[in-house]
This record gives sequence, structure tokens and C-alpha cells, in this order.
Amino acid sequence: METDRMETDRADLAIVGGGAAGLAAAIFAAEAAPAGARIVVLDGAKTLGAKILVAGGGRCNVTHQHVHPKDFNGTQNIIRNVLAAFDVAATVRWFASMGVDLKCEPTGKLFPVANSARVVLQALLNRCAELNVILQTSSRVSAIIRLENDLGADKLDKFRIEHACGALRCDRVIVATGGRSLPKSGSDGSGWAILRHLGHTVTPSYAALVPLVLSPQMFHAQLAGVSQDVELSVFASGKRIDHRTGSLLWTHFGVSGPVVMDASRHWTVAHELGAEPVLRCNFLPGEDFEQVERWLIQRTSERPKAAMRTHLAERFTERVADALLRYAGIDPLLVGSQLSRDARRALIHTITGLVLPVAEHRGWNFAEVTAGGVPLSEIDYRTMQSRKIPGLYLAGEVLDCDGRIGGFNFQWAWATGYLAGQRCFKE
Ligand SMILES: Cc1cc2nc3c(=O)[nH]c(=O)nc-3n(C[C@H](O)[C@H](O)[C@H](O)COP(=O)(O)OP(=O)(O)OC[C@H]3O[C@@H](n4cnc5c(N)ncnc54)[C@H](O)[C@@H]3O)c2cc1C
Repeated sequence: METDRMETDRADLAIVGGGAAGLAAAIFAAEAAPAGARIVVLDGAKTLGAKILVAGGGRCNVTHQHVHPKDFNGTQNIIRNVLAAFDVAATVRWFASMGVDLKCEPTGKLFPVANSARVVLQALLNRCAELNVILQTSSRVSAIIRLENDLGADKLDKFRIEHACGALRCDRVIVATGGRSLPKSGSDGSGWAILRHLGHTVTPSYAALVPLVLSPQMFHAQLAGVSQDVELSVFASGKRIDHRTGSLLWTHFGVSGPVVMDASRHWTVAHELGAEPVLRCNFLPGEDFEQVERWLIQRTSERPKAAMRTHLAERFTERVADALLRYAGIDPLLVGSQLSRDARRALIHTITGLVLPVAEHRGWNFAEVTAGGVPLSEIDYRTMQSRKIPGLYLAGEVLDCDGRIGGFNFQWAWATGYLAGQRCFKE
């Protein structure tokens, strides 16, 4: 009977989750394992690699030229050690060894030369096939049960894994179930429930690298499609908790673009904690109120008959200039000489410190990553082995570490997958 066959199924290593971290772990484990070791990847999805395929707009931003612990939120000394074990050069060599050459773009992001995420996924799947890794899809795992006290168990088997097609016994398991972002890809946070049951703690989770929805009264919809460099700060409970400069993209629902995505996790965390975060935007990065006032006074006195729209168009596109002027209550056609002191100050406040009225984040379907997860202090960073359950290893986004936009989250997946895979047969 099928169920009986599944009941007796066993593996030397089971990997729960066949995303970036799980596939990396499978490959490195298969390379390090004794000959004939049986390695099974169990994944709930019908097909593997959904997130790899959508990553980087379908081109897959595999890593970044410069990866530093500061690019991540999480326990810095642990992140530093993990990244040092498998750095960017190792990632580039590894992909080259699988036939995928990477190129560095001016932003520092690395993409496959072929500009195709499918090439990245196919290389990982091909390598798994070469190494006889068994990839079992549609096998969502519901529980991992420790067998130490189970007298009926084969003494070698430490775990029994229950999944949608039956059960699997194994003596080591790597959990790489990701976080909650893009749940339709199969990553819905269910891995945390399994780990909690095994005795791990899981911090609250928050959407990160997520676009932000603005109140409908704001002017974002008029500017949809326009992007510009801005300085963005998040304040919570009166303190500035994040500050960065980069490209903001106006959209029909609010704001997106790298600087917003990176700032978003600070907004979502503070919001969920009830700290009433405020997102403040300076449209002239590096310039403060006084500098912008000096510039504006000079321009309007040099060309007093020119419309305010013309003055602002020196620094902004006309659409943005009009939106900022109207927001400050100024007719874009008003000539510079007629601008009152109060109107000028209102305009400069708008330009250098506009509060973007965030209503909510755009939701888990649009979040690229999850902030939160299993605390890094609960794993041994040299091996990714759980400090609570011998034989259990964790890799990827299931852990409490999230990187900024630019290839950092995949670097975390490759590095943690490498450590867990490479070490799990040696411990
Ligand atoms: C739209 C988008 C674009 C992105 N672009 C980039 C980018 O260009 N560069 C970058 O660095 N990062 C990017 N990221 C982030 C990156 O994709 C993730 O950080 C990375 O994929 C995490 O890898 P992971 O293997 O830990 O988890 P995941 O990729 O989420 O994989 C987890 C796997 O576990 C499976 N699973 C979950 N629960 C169970 C269960 N109970 N039983 C069995 N299987 C289960 C899932 O089906 C899934 O296959 C992007 C993310 C999104 C959503």
C-alpha cells in the first residue's frame, strides 16, 4: 500500500523547503555526504523555485558586489561569521561551477549574464539531479517529530517527518521553509509552527522590503511611474530609527522603489508595535531648510517674473514641481515675486520634510522578505545546527535575519545553506 511505503521511507538527510536555501543546502550536503547517502527535499509547492523565478524582476539578483553585516537586520556578530564562511567570491565561483556566470551592474548588484532567473533555478535543479538529490514536491510538511524516546524507531533515526504524501524517517533534517512573504509561493510561515513545536522560539514577524500605501488624499497617483532620488527618514516615539537616501518610485497606490522598500521594515515593525511611525521625505537629498531657502530666494530675486513652476523645474520634473507646489497651497503659475514669506516657508517644509501619510504596507503578497523568525542565538553559526535539538539545522529566511534590497537575502540563503549542508554530515 502507498501509505505503508511512505511510512517506511527513510533518508540520511531530509530538507524541508526547496527554495534558495534548501536547494543550496541539498547541493552542499550531497557533495559532502558519504557515498550512497539518501538526501530528500520535501516541498509543499507543486514546482520549486517560485521566488527565484520572480526575483530581481525575473533576472534574479543573486548577490551583491559588497556584502557587509550592516546590510542586514539581526545579530551582527553571528551574521558576520555566517557571511565570512561563504562570501560573495564563493557565491560567484559556485555559480560559475554550475555554468552560471554572473555580471556586476553599476548598482553593485550581481545578475546572471543571461539576465534570466530561470537559468539560476535550472542550474540548481540540474546540480541536484547530478548529485541524486530527491526532490519531492507537493509534500507539505505538517510536523517533525523527535524519535529519541520512540522505542519502535530505528536507533539511527532521530526524526519522523509527516508530510502531505506520508512520512519520512531521517537522522538529520535541515529546515529551510522561508518566512511569510509571497505566501502563494509556498512560504506561509508554517515552518515556524513546526519549529515552535520542537522547542524553538520564533520572534514576531513583519513584512519587509514592501511597498507602502499612502492615504488617498496624497498626490502619489498623479505622479505614478515617476522616480526620483530622495532622503527618507522613519521616526518612531520621537526618535529617528532609520535614515537613508535612494530612489523613490511613485505608484498608483503610494510609494515603492529601493529607498522605500529598505525603509519599510522599520515602518512596519514600529507600526505593529504601536509606536506610530512617521515617514518623512526630503526631496533634495543632502540639503536642509536653510540651504533650500537661500537657493529659492536667490532664484526668485534673479527672475522675479518667472512662474514658481519654472523655478522648481530646475530641480524637479515639472510633474513633481507642480505636485509639491499645489501641496504647499501655491499655484504653479504664481510668479516668484508674488510668493509670500509664509508660502515660501510652507513650500520649503514640503520639499525638505514632507510627511508621507502611510496608511498601511502593501501586504504579504508584495513583501519581498520577512523580518523576524528563529533567533540567531538559537543556532550554532558554525554549522547552522540548532542549539536545542541535535540533528536539526536551519537555513535561510526562516531565521531572524533580513537584508536590504540588492541581492543580500539570497546571499544569506546561499551562505546558510552552505553551512548547514556542508556540516550536517560531519557533526
Ligand atoms: C518578489 C520577490 C523578489 C525578490 N527578489 C530578490 C532578489 O532579486 N535578490 C535577493 O537577494 N532576494 C530577493 N528576494 C528575497 C529572496 O527571494 C528570499 O529571501 C529567499 O528566496 C529566501 O530563501 P529561502 O530558501 O530561505 O525561502 P523561500 O525561498 O521562501 O523557500 C522556502 C520553501 O519552503 C517551502 N515550504 C514552506 N513551508 C513548507 C512546509 N511546511 N512544508 C514543505 N515546504 C514548505 C516553500 O514552498 C518554499 O519552496 C525576493 C523575494 C520576492 C518575494
